Amino acid sequence: MSFSASVLTLYPEMFPGALGVSLAGRALEAGTWSLGAIQIRDFATDRHRTVDDTPAGGGAGMVMRADVLAKAIDHSSPPGDPRPRLLMSPRGKPLTQVRVRELAAGPGVVIVCGRFEGVDQRVIDARGLEEVSVGDFILSGGEPAALVLLDAVVRLLPGVMGNVVSGDEESFENGLLEHPHYTRPQEFEGRQIPEVLTSGNHQKIAAWRRAESERLTKERRPDLLAAHPLVK
Ligand code: SAH
Repeated sequence: MSFSASVLTLYPEMFPGALGVSLAGRALEAGTWSLGAIQIRDFATDRHRTVDDTPAGGGAGMVMRADVLAKAIDHSSPPGDPRPRLLMSPRGKPLTQVRVRELAAGPGVVIVCGRFEGVDQRVIDARGLEEVSVGDFILSGGEPAALVLLDAVVRLLPGVMGNVVSGDEESFENGLLEHPHYTRPQEFEGRQIPEVLTSGNHQKIAAWRRAESERLTKERRPDLLAAHPLVK
């Protein structure tokens, strides 16, 4: 059974978007994964197809209505659907490669994209939505965040990445940032490829890469080193 993604959004025309090209696009065409973009507005019940209203307690902006969103969720993800239900949200747990791997190993995802000031808390609670953030900044809507999450997940699905090995050596997979890369030409604007990389000594190359990984991680992301006690 292939990985199934359902995205609930006010802008279904944003999908598959960037996921329709390159690796993800080819995998979509091949049926390695499927994508449904569901228009939340189709579940509004009033004449004006209203999906939002003013915030209780006052303040700026609008809030997505719990009742309309619940209908859209129940339609796309009825009880018994094994897929986790995510809500893209700057208040959520920051997305990590570990969570991406877990999602890629599962049956799929249901993703709710927020808009306006956010979503009525009651539908988050009532439908058990897992809030996921893509970083400490504010987007205008959950759609770009959903594209980011799906891109990260889809590339891990079996058969999507041509070179399987390249997946395991990347940044975060071992708790470290990746070492620098080089390719021909041997000299670029007076800069040479580090000699060890052209030495043909695979042991030395591996040691150099490991040392560079550790150096970069210490310099740029000491928080990663702290979080991975196995790494010295
Ligand atoms: N008022 C909210 C921001 C709303 S932004 C606040 O201050 O927290 C509108 C929508 O964009 C959100 O409901 C969410 O779905 C999406 N969004 C914005 N930033 C995001 C982020 N960093 N990660 C994931 N989703 C985000």
